[in-house]
Amino acid sequence: MKKALVLFSGGLDSRVTAKFMEELGFEVHLCFVKLPFGAGCGSPLKENEKFAKEQGFHFHLVDATKEELFLEYLSLVKNPKHGLGVSVNPCRDCKIFIFKEGKKVAEKIKADIICTGEVLAQRPMSQMKHSLVFDEEKAGLKDKILRPLSAKILPETIYEKKGIIDREKLLGIHGRQRVIQMKLADKYNITYPNPAGGCLLCEKTYGAKLNCLLKEKPSPKIEEISLLNKGRLFKKEGFLVVGRYEKENDKLEKLANSLNWGIEKNLKIPGPTVIYEKTEDKDFAIKLWDAYTNNDLKKREEFESFKI
Ligand code: SF4
Repeated sequence: MKKALVLFSGGLDSRVTAKFMEELGFEVHLCFVKLPFGAGCGSPLKENEKFAKEQGFHFHLVDATKEELFLEYLSLVKNPKHGLGVSVNPCRDCKIFIFKEGKKVAEKIKADIICTGEVLAQRPMSQMKHSLVFDEEKAGLKDKILRPLSAKILPETIYEKKGIIDREKLLGIHGRQRVIQMKLADKYNITYPNPAGGCLLCEKTYGAKLNCLLKEKPSPKIEEISLLNKGRLFKKEGFLVVGRYEKENDKLEKLANSLNWGIEKNLKIPGPTVIYEKTEDKDFAIKLWDAYTNNDLKKREEFESFKI
């Protein structure tokens, strides 16, 4: 049986693509690249593993949240060669990164086809014909990425030329409407995530926090990055984070322990946990804790200029 490696985000299009390739008779392998900084265009790892298991697909995880791949991704966030989107999202570089990692997996498993769930013109910049071609060229995959959902209106790939797949059986979906994909998902009886869920790098508030962290710490630790989507972030001599609810307080405490940061909380009085990086900020942390424990809006205002 021929193998199709789907570069899989977990979103509607990539789920439908995987099922579509299965329908065409391929053994389906999913390649999911887990990105740092809360980046991702589809579903989180656990949901994607679940989908693969339910469908009987092979699952290949590339974990870019640690070691060398993390450093590589960090450098493209700091210095994107192909620009940023609305916030700090280096979408073009990110896609090229994912393609390159997918290529390695494809070689390892000897995949016959590499494909994605990309749909022509679904996104204004990154999914226009020239962008699709550009990205695959940069990843060393010229003509080697099949987009089964739009293939009929895209240039022929090497797979069609070689007869590995019949172009006539592929689709010609175009544009932002997802009606056809949703109908296919119904036909295949699969669920898919809400398209509104998205990549943290595209969020402006997250972007501001990340920029601030990278300015202070060009090579941040994973735990420091994990803090950015938790609680309220402040910067005085060092960084401080105020938890917003119990579970978050617990997570912050764990992170503070592994980073060797200070912790301000009061077991007798319900309130936030405040963690702080530098001992010089201990008094500031106590005042923050007080303002947020007593829900005193006037007191909180005093800290607004330190909030990121
Ligand atoms: S939105 Fe952009 S930066 Fe975020 S995961 Fe998708 S391609 Fe990457």
